[in-house]
Amino acid sequence: MKDSNFLKENNAKFLWHPMGHPGQLRVKTPQIITGASGVRITDIDGHETVDAVGGLWNVNLGYSCDPVKQAISGQLDALPYYSAFAGTSNNAAIELSWELQEWFGADGLGRAFFTSGGSDSVETALRLARQYHKVRGEPGRTKFLSLKKGYHGTHMGGASVNGNARFRTAYEPMLPGCYHIPAPYTYRNPFNESDPARLAQLCAQALEDEIAFQGAETIAAFIMEPVLGAGGIIPPHESFMPMVREICTRNGIVLIADEVITGFGRTGHWSGSRHWGVKPDMMCLAKAITNGYFPFGAAMISETIAEAFEADTTGTGNIGHGYTYSAHPVGAAAAIACLAETKRLNVAENAAARGEQMFAGVHKLMDKHALIGDVRGGHGLMTAVELVSDRATKAPADKAVASTVAEVAYENGVMVRVSGHNILMSPPLIISEEDVDRILAGLDAGLAAAV
Ligand code: PMP
Repeated sequence: MKDSNFLKENNAKFLWHPMGHPGQLRVKTPQIITGASGVRITDIDGHETVDAVGGLWNVNLGYSCDPVKQAISGQLDALPYYSAFAGTSNNAAIELSWELQEWFGADGLGRAFFTSGGSDSVETALRLARQYHKVRGEPGRTKFLSLKKGYHGTHMGGASVNGNARFRTAYEPMLPGCYHIPAPYTYRNPFNESDPARLAQLCAQALEDEIAFQGAETIAAFIMEPVLGAGGIIPPHESFMPMVREICTRNGIVLIADEVITGFGRTGHWSGSRHWGVKPDMMCLAKAITNGYFPFGAAMISETIAEAFEADTTGTGNIGHGYTYSAHPVGAAAAIACLAETKRLNVAENAAARGEQMFAGVHKLMDKHALIGDVRGGHGLMTAVELVSDRATKAPADKAVASTVAEVAYENGVMVRVSGHNILMSPPLIISEEDVDRILAGLDAGLAAAV
């Protein structure tokens, strides 16, 4: 490895970072991470922190998951690459598709289309939803509906259904035919409704209204995260997703659950949809499917949709979509090992218990720090602290305040994530009780320093 000065000096000169300003990165060097073990990461100066971000919500099993590492190196030896474009296949991908129907078959999701990550999985689901309607003879269904504050990746389709201007404006015009309805975000919403159940109803009604306004016969799909992640960790009321399911069914709209974050245990259940008792028509997966060790994802497809494609004799069902790295055997091997470990360690159960601990802990911090306007979580290991400059007016804190919280937490041994004026925490699901306490202590120190 090159020395520390070389890396710090050249970081922003030659490396353009995702989700960063290239000019600012030249002024301020980010933490350069050079090692990791368990739930801890180490930076180039040898400073060790508990990773309360969990990579990017993906390193559910921590950084020392040997079975996944061995599966990757074993597959590299046996077959480092072969495509699954029609005409060829590979054993690892076939085995993984079988594993995934074991996980999600009970939800009616019996087919897997493999991708290289979350944005690909979203794009796949959106495109196949449109094609599905063409296959079943309703080609006019092309529009997409989604939630404000939702995050669905950075490809043009996914970015078009994203509900946050920060990921859209610079790249407009977006895909035509994408419309957004208010998110069930209790702390701030256009209805000034603070009761989560009533808010869920209002948002569901907004969905009904938008469908009526657009015409159901023009809408292909509605996409949502079961718990909104990057938009600030927003868990809807338990009634919301079931209501959405019913509305979509009644209107012939494909329901896509974007489970790129919530899949594989993060909410304390094996999927966020299952958490709410909902069976979506498609499910986007990525991130924890390989524990973050290999770029990989999947779009799961319901039996009903699959059967329509498979029965097609006109050619409309021919899939003109796919990536060079779809069904990559190394990614598939990593995922097979990862899913086995995920089950063996029963990480969903730990996520639920540690999530409760973390949620209770941040609630306590709220009594101590006026800077906290809202805390969200309580559904596994997804916890947010929303910072305000004034609790009465809910005026958002400056981004610089959130950065100070994160910097001081880091000095105190905890890596948290800043998203606007929110602090987001999504540690590995294997985290211990003691390490959750460490995260809370680091956050406490950060909050104390930021006033
Ligand atoms: N959907 C959701 C819900 C996500 O959180 C993300 C990534 N944070 C994506 C899609 C995009 O995934 P990727 O960054 O792997 O393309």
